[in-house]
This record gives sequence, C-alpha cells and structure tokens, in this order.
Amino acid sequence: MSSETNSLSDKLDASGFEAVIGLEVHAQLSTDSKIFASSGTASGRPENSLTDPTTLGLPGSLPVLNHRVVDFAIKLGLATNCTIEKLSVFSRKHYLYPDLPKGYQISQYDKPLCTKGYVEVRSKTGTKRVGLTRIHLEEDAGKNIHLDGQPFSLVDLNRAGVPLVEIVSEPDMSSPEEAGQYMRRLRQTLRHLDICDGNMEEGSLRCDANVSIRKRGVTTLGTKVEIKNLNSFRYVEKALEYEILRQVEVVSGGGSIQQETRLWDDGSQSTRTMRTKEQAADYRYFPDPDLPQLVVDENWLNRVRASLPELPNQIFDRFKKLYELEDYLCELLTEDKLTSRYFDQAVSCHNSPKNLANWITTELFGRMNKEALTMESCPVSPEDMASLVKLIDDGVISGKIAKGVFDEMFSSGVSPSQIVESKGLQQLSDPAQISAVIDAVVAANPEQLAAYRAGKTKMLSFFVGQIMKETGGKANPQLLNQLLEARLKGE
Ligand code: ADP
Ligand code: MG
Repeated sequence: MSSETNSLSDKLDASGFEAVIGLEVHAQLSTDSKIFASSGTASGRPENSLTDPTTLGLPGSLPVLNHRVVDFAIKLGLATNCTIEKLSVFSRKHYLYPDLPKGYQISQYDKPLCTKGYVEVRSKTGTKRVGLTRIHLEEDAGKNIHLDGQPFSLVDLNRAGVPLVEIVSEPDMSSPEEAGQYMRRLRQTLRHLDICDGNMEEGSLRCDANVSIRKRGVTTLGTKVEIKNLNSFRYVEKALEYEILRQVEVVSGGGSIQQETRLWDDGSQSTRTMRTKEQAADYRYFPDPDLPQLVVDENWLNRVRASLPELPNQIFDRFKKLYELEDYLCELLTEDKLTSRYFDQAVSCHNSPKNLANWITTELFGRMNKEALTMESCPVSPEDMASLVKLIDDGVISGKIAKGVFDEMFSSGVSPSQIVESKGLQQLSDPAQISAVIDAVVAANPEQLAAYRAGKTKMLSFFVGQIMKETGGKANPQLLNQLLEARLKGE
C-alpha cells in the first residue's frame, strides 16, 4: 500500500516490536423507526422533529423493542459466523451528557445478542480470519450543536434512539492496512445485507481503534490505547500508524504506555490524550427493568436465515470460479450489491465475463467516479454495456472506437449499436479495402518505405498511424498489421 505503511513495517522490524489492534465499530441500522420508539430515523430533518416521549426520556414513557432492529442484527451475526444467543439482555449504561436525556444509554452489556464470530479479510499474503468477540444492540445518543461565539450549546435529539450495532473484534489485527481492510469488509457486508448505508462521513459507520505494541515473540498483550471516533478509512489507518510509531518511540526510550483514550487530530496528523484510565467513568450498568430479556427462538432465527441474500464472499468465490476472474476484479465487482447484480446481468446478456469485468471496472467505474455517481444512478444499463463489449468481441468495432462510443452512451443514453450505425463506426475488416488504403499510403511515402526496407522497422508504426488517419481509426488493427507488414516487405 502506501509508502508510509512500508516505512512503518520497516520501523517495526528494526525495533523488534509488533502492533496489536482490535476495533470497536458502531453501525447505524437503517430501520424506519427507532430502536425503542416509533419516531422516524431519517437524516436531514428539522432539529428535534423526530422525537416522542420515550426519545425525550419523559417520565412515564416506556421503551418498546423494535423487532426489525433485531432481525437486522441477526442477519449481521449470521453473515459474520456468530452464535446468535437465544437469550440476551438490555442494560442501562449511565453517564451525564446533554445529548442523553434519560441519563443512561440502553445497551447490551454482559449478555449480547451475537458472540464468537469472525470476518475473513483478504490481503496480499492471503486470507486471514479476524475474530469477533461480540455484536450487541444499543441506542444512539443525540447531537450537541456548538454555535460559534455563543455561550450555550443546542441539542438535537433526532439521532437519539436510532438503532446501533456495536461490532467488537478480537485483538487479531497487526497493521493499519489490515484494520482498514477489516473495516471495508464490514462495510461491504452491512451494505450487501441492506441494513446500514455504510456512510462513514455522515457517521453511519464509526470506529474506535484499540492498539498496543509488544516485542515479537511475546504472547501476552501490552497496554492498549483507544483512539475514539474515527470516521473514515483513511483516519483509521493514519491514526493507527501514528499511534504505533508513538508507542514504539515511548517504549524504546525507556518509557511505558499509559492506558488512555486518545483522539485523532487530522489537522496536526497526530493523536492527543482525551482521558486517562483514572478519568474513566463508572457506568453503573444494570439490566433495564423496563425491558424484558430478548429471546430469539428457532423460528425467529430460521425466518431471518431464510431471508439472507448471497453474501459478498460467496459472490466473490462464484465470480472467481465461474468466470475465472482475478481477485482484484472480483473485489471491485462485489463492492456492493448493485455492482455485482449489474455484472451478473451484463454477463447474462453477453457471455464474455473477462472483457465485461475489464470494461466495467475501468471505463464505467472511471467515468462514474469522475462524475461522482453511484451505482444507483448509473446511466448505462447492463444490457447496453454487454452490447458494447459484444460489438468489440465480434470485431464490429475496435477497442479504441469503443471508448468513444462508450462516452457517448454514457452522456446520451443511446444504445451502442445505434451510435455505431448512425456514425458509421463499424470496423473496416475487408482486406481489399484495407489493402487499397495501404497501397495509397505506401505510394505517397517512398522515403519512409526505403527507410523501413533499410532496416528501420520502427517505421511500421508511422504507416499504421497514417492508415488509421485515412480510415478514421476504423481499420481492423490485426488485419492492418498483417497486410501492411507483407506489403512493406514487398511480399
Ligand atoms: P475495554 O474493557 O477497555 O472496553 P475490551 O477488552 O472490551 O476493553 O476490548 C475492547 C477492544 O479493544 C476490543 O476490540 C479488543 O480486541 C481490543 N483490545 C483489548 N486489549 C487490547 C490490547 N492489549 N491491544 C490492542 N487491542 C486490544
Ligand atoms: Mg469493552
């Protein structure tokens, strides 16, 4: 990956330390209503418009569990190879903050819904399993709004009570890159399951990264530092890299690591202390007496299991085996559900998976990135993409001409065959026609011909260029090369 990462692993190698990383990831579940109340969860609504007595924590209000939230969490648990616990418990986690009207957050504590799973992370060196300790349900808090120059803050409770899963990994990762890959894998799974939009910038997916170092060969864990609230893949990787180097420096200098919570500051590209262990809060957890224990019986579990879609790693394996695509292509094509569906549809129209994969991941993705479009608003249908590749595969147009056709398809939505027909872009594949142009061009350039025959074989590309110019780029390249070489050699 980045050169920084390389220099990090060099520094670790030189110092004899290794990094140990475990992530706690919060994902907002995209249910229509909140976890314990009927208010909506949409973003971008007027402040405090998505509230109700339970969300506001008014006396006398009671939480009622939204079962769809549990369906979503079970899906995630099954997709990440967890045990789904038949019995789990909601507890109260107490702390005082203006964005938490009840004075406690409802969260699963000692009895979470999902336990002991794993996620498979692919890297250059192969596949690695990152263990999941647990996945539990909890409610989100509201948001404090600090206005410039004002001596007060405002509170928006629209987000209060939005359902979250917290996904806690084992300390199984050993590099920032691996942590980034793990995050990507989680996001991909959440998005394929349609249970979280995975938007890190908007906070639908947030990460607390725990990291320690130890001498290579040591099996016990070192003292960890937690870096809170990382909301992009880049921040996760950057913050871990900085923190690992900082810890190596401290320990190498004879110091020791303090257990603490730190924050990443992107401005200074460094982490700084937020609170130390001594300042850690005592949350006074206890089971919430307003909520019954959550019991997930076999029926419930089977119903959710039956609704699971094909998972990204299953699609990856299918693309790899069935279509013999390289890993990086499978990776790109399984990034989200719409993309893999798009690819499947295109292949079903024209069975040329490798060429389709290349066109989709280079030309289509390239143009979509440039125009900041997502797959939902892709202006080229899989059918049209397939027809374009078929025109190339059948030798009707050259790959080069196809790029122009693609650009036009993308902007106008017109089908490729219509564009090729109306503009007369069909490839010139008639040997007699091509030979006629070759003859004319060769006759007009006697010096170049002499040079070629005197051993300057590079002149070949001069002639190719001239002939392509004459034919508007439409001469079939293989045929042209073959005929031209014979003609130049005087055969
Ligand atoms: P805490 O009690 O501080 O919340 P946990 O044991 O629950 O700590 O672990 C929280 C996260 O930190 C988990 O993802 C876990 O894998 C990770 N973790 C725990 N100990 C270490 C360590 N020594 N180094 C790196 N990560 C760790
Ligand atoms: Mg913990």
